[in-house]
Amino acid sequence: MEITFAGKRALVTGAGKGIGRATALALSRCGAEVMAVTRTQADLDSLVLECPSIKPVCADLSDWDATEQALKDVGPVDLLVNNAACAKLQPFLEVTPEQFDISFNVNVKAALHVAQIVARGMVARGSGGSIVNISSQASQCALRDHAVYCATKGALDMLTKVMALELGPYKIRVNSVNPTVVMTEMGRLGWSDPEKAKTMTSRIPLGRFAEVEDVVNSILFLLSDKSAMTNGVTLPVDGGFLAC
Ligand code: NDP
Repeated sequence: MEITFAGKRALVTGAGKGIGRATALALSRCGAEVMAVTRTQADLDSLVLECPSIKPVCADLSDWDATEQALKDVGPVDLLVNNAACAKLQPFLEVTPEQFDISFNVNVKAALHVAQIVARGMVARGSGGSIVNISSQASQCALRDHAVYCATKGALDMLTKVMALELGPYKIRVNSVNPTVVMTEMGRLGWSDPEKAKTMTSRIPLGRFAEVEDVVNSILFLLSDKSAMTNGVTLPVDGGFLAC
């Protein structure tokens, strides 16, 4: 199946590292004009070095006003990937209000805000579009020390569905991908301990964690017209973890 995004403009958040960075590069290879948003300038510098056509946008998405300012001149966007997130693990009894606020600000509120900015433009132009929110298997399954992270991803799944409901009439599709563990910087934080990793992989029917490419391929499918009738889904990329 060939996917092309020639003539499309795509915005990817959290594009400095991991899944977001790989998604930005893949979209560019597929012909899209890509805007990469993240908060670490050094990551944007190396991304642009790797792919000079990518337009870098430096912003801390946990800051509502700074996000508004940073995105005001990005122009029309056809494809949005809400990927930026943070995951700080804490036992439930030790969760702090600071951790709760920063996690919800980035993982939920920023996704809503960036999608509002982008979707308002899509609605005004009558162009339609496709939005993919990067959720997690943690949205639907309790994981130890992940109380806040699980709660943010559960919220993101419902946000995806309501966005699909309200934006569908404007021909804007909204879906999420829900990966299992991927050994990015974030994945390594929680799952580097081999014993812990084994406990998780033993619950995944395919017996392994996801690769970055597994997630990127599902994102590209949901962004593309190949999924033209798919709207409001939370697509597991988890080797069967959530099915069992
Ligand atoms: P990484 O930590 O490797 O990358 C996250 C990116 O988001 C970084 O570039 C980071 O920038 C950026 N980011 C974080 N906070 C902000 C902010 N406030 N403003 C702007 N940019 C920000 O994560 P992954 O690639 O692993 O994760 C990508 C997505 O996939 C996330 O939504 C995550 O929840 C989800 N996911 C990941 C899994 C995994 O096991 N890795 C499993 C399931 C879902 P900086 O480094 O500068 O903070």
